[in-house]
Amino acid sequence: MARNRENSRALYDRALSVMPAGVNSSVRATQPYPTFVRKGDGAHVIDHDGNRYIDYVMGYGPLLLGHDMPESVAAAVQRAASEGPMYGAPTEVEVDLAEFVVRHVPSVEMIRFVNSGTEATVSAVRLARGYTGRNKIVVMQGGYHGAQESTLVEGDAEHPRPSTSGIPHSFAQHTLPVPFNDEAALREVFEAHGDDIACVLTEPILGNSGIVMPEEGYHQTIRDLCDDHGALYVLDEVITGFRVGGLGCAQSKLGVTPDVTTFGKIVGGGFPVGAIGGKSEIIEQFSPAGDVFQSGTFSGHPVTMAAGLATLEFCAESDVYDHVNALGEQLREGLTDVLADRAPEYTVVGTDSMFKVVFGRADSGPQSDCCSAGCTQDHTCERYGDCPKTGADVADGETQRWDRLFRPFMEERGILLPANQMESQFVSYAHTEADVEETLEAYEAFFS
Ligand code: PLP
Repeated sequence: MARNRENSRALYDRALSVMPAGVNSSVRATQPYPTFVRKGDGAHVIDHDGNRYIDYVMGYGPLLLGHDMPESVAAAVQRAASEGPMYGAPTEVEVDLAEFVVRHVPSVEMIRFVNSGTEATVSAVRLARGYTGRNKIVVMQGGYHGAQESTLVEGDAEHPRPSTSGIPHSFAQHTLPVPFNDEAALREVFEAHGDDIACVLTEPILGNSGIVMPEEGYHQTIRDLCDDHGALYVLDEVITGFRVGGLGCAQSKLGVTPDVTTFGKIVGGGFPVGAIGGKSEIIEQFSPAGDVFQSGTFSGHPVTMAAGLATLEFCAESDVYDHVNALGEQLREGLTDVLADRAPEYTVVGTDSMFKVVFGRADSGPQSDCCSAGCTQDHTCERYGDCPKTGADVADGETQRWDRLFRPFMEERGILLPANQMESQFVSYAHTEADVEETLEAYEAFFS
């Protein structure tokens, strides 16, 4: 019998009258109506009709520890909230969190906290422009950096255009989108516009186009081209920060050193956050130390800072990364087996605690996670197959099946997945091997 979801439906009806599409973030407007969550419980959520789901949305990334805060995190949050939620004056805890990040992420010498990943990337782009005195930025097709004017741009470097209404064409002209993993395209764009490029802004791993891993050496090429042309290399670790590569972030796993890193999600321990970190010489261009204006009423919010610090300290002192990465691997291996004879045209992607099945394949080429296991770039990976190399490889798959068939099926089986094929899935510290087994059974049922 189908799950009763009447209360979600009724809430959606109410929401539709007072909020556009009934939601406060586009991605939550799933069809036929969203599951309204009443509360979290470890790796699970319970909806307003009492249905329980194994949750792989995990707040779209911030909840590395799952829905229950460990005692130390809960105590830090409650203490900060009970002492008056915020002041508009500096506090000790923001210094503590800044010091923690500086200690663990070698490329970060200074950091400024803001309130969202979007705010972080907006500020990073302004910083790069202010620091270099140049206007153009290079971004990756299929990359995502939040709801901001400079990066909601599609097309290619010669024909950029806004990807949404509300952005003037003249803004989009300053943004140069190139395909991810395409070194030749990157060299070309620097040859054509090198003197005008303020920065390359990219995720280390595309985390909003399914999951697309960088090929071996790709990020080093970005680093080198930026150096050769006096541009900044800005790595957007809003998703990957403190998840991929542990406390050193994805940059430590990939062995690259950006000039500037943007953070969000996990660094706020589940509360609204963003941050821009990097070399002191660059970060000190932010006002009032420098002349790139940056400010925010809620920035460095004491409750967020307390949650972020306690979360990262918990990660430093326990087996969080071993646990989530092992379960991530178990899921990727299990899903690879599930697809092998049932849906060989689809692909398992991901690394560490990120995983996904995308409904397509790349034309060729392996995934860097398997490269590190010994594959070379010109043959198909034995384990994961032809993984996507660009955002388009994922977008060109049978993405409609996700929304129409796959996601509703999984939800009915008690597995909560993100809205669409483009969003990553996350394993948390609260997930168990039993959750993974149940999840694999549900995937198997669908693909059978
Ligand atoms: N950058 C990346 C890589 C993201 O994945 C996101 C959001 O998912 C953002 C920036 C924007 O962050 P926020 O939604 O907190 O504004």
